[in-house]
Amino acid sequence: MSETIKTDVVIIGAGPVGLFAVFELGLLDIKAHLIDILDKVGGQCAELYPEKPIYDIPGIPLITGHGLTDALMEQIKPFNPNFHLGEMVLKVEKLGDAQFRVTTDRDKVFECKCVVVAAGGGSFQPKRPPIAGIEAYEDKSVHYAVRKMDALRDKHLVIVGGGDSALDWTLNLQPIAKRLTLVHRRDEFRGAPDSVNKMRALVAAGDMDLRIGQVAALEGDNGQLVAAQIKGKEATDRIACDALLPFFGLTMKLGPVADWGIKMEDELIPVDTAAFETSVPGIFAIGDINTYPGKLKLILSGFHEGALMAQKIYHYVYPEKRLVFQYTTSSTSLQKKLGVA
Ligand code: FAD
Repeated sequence: MSETIKTDVVIIGAGPVGLFAVFELGLLDIKAHLIDILDKVGGQCAELYPEKPIYDIPGIPLITGHGLTDALMEQIKPFNPNFHLGEMVLKVEKLGDAQFRVTTDRDKVFECKCVVVAAGGGSFQPKRPPIAGIEAYEDKSVHYAVRKMDALRDKHLVIVGGGDSALDWTLNLQPIAKRLTLVHRRDEFRGAPDSVNKMRALVAAGDMDLRIGQVAALEGDNGQLVAAQIKGKEATDRIACDALLPFFGLTMKLGPVADWGIKMEDELIPVDTAAFETSVPGIFAIGDINTYPGKLKLILSGFHEGALMAQKIYHYVYPEKRLVFQYTTSSTSLQKKLGVA
């Protein structure tokens, strides 16, 4: 277990709404750490529609999902938020008044005065391929993400999939693997053409294998794989396999949010509309994860919710201080925080 990280606020979810919350909290001198299960920031904007134009961000007639994420990152830079990506929040526990403990699946522990749940439609989780008994090998020799490349050095690796993740990891891991086999159900790839060309060149040079087919069965013991059976058009082959890496995309699941003792309604968190606080004082919910009369699942709603929420969080973080409302246009103190005064 790592050392406990102490901060004012932990934001669960680094989607657009979690990112903008850093700005609103930062203006009020409230420090935040953000945690997201994805290995990148931006939530749905970055994962589901990075290249699509969004037309209803106030004051910005057109911006892509990727562009909005970049702009938000630029906007929150003055507040130096800490990101913990590739980690899922498993537990949120109340320790006392304005005191919470947050624990991730990588055993990172945070203690904070308030928790902001900006978990959108839930956590993005990898799609499991339909291979009988695969669960027994998960996290031991079947991996849906690569956390430490070196753990895969000198191994027989089998990567499954035809998109960018499968191709990128094929190119990254091929130099360190004992032998790498890429398995895809057809000889056409959705990934970037440049990656496809590089992969085909490695196959032509005899430096890796490409099998057109599907993983039909796994062989191993105690969670450790030894071989995979690849069913092709004509025959089924058995190949050595120490680790299997399926990249079949992501799906959104509510995940552990429902276990944190917060009142839920149809997989959403009901909140008040003055501060977007949940049934547990000190835990707030903003963005797609919350519900209240008239709620619209729009990015602009989440931005508004973050602004009001920050005002209430201020009183938890600085109970003895009075909050003075200020504009960024006219307040030198806010402009100093933004580094523009
Ligand atoms: P999300 O973007 O869902 O981010 C939540 C993050 O929380 C995710 O990254 C998730 O991995 C993380 N998370 C969840 N649980 C955990 C956990 N336990 N531990 C760690 N991390 C966790 N909205 C508009 O306003 N205009 C549009 O034009 C528009 N177009 C859209 C087009 C498409 C195709 C889609 C799918 C949505 C569109 N939306 C649009 C909706 C918009 O994307 C959402 O309203 C917005 O992303 C919500 O932001 P959020 O930060 O609340 O949640």
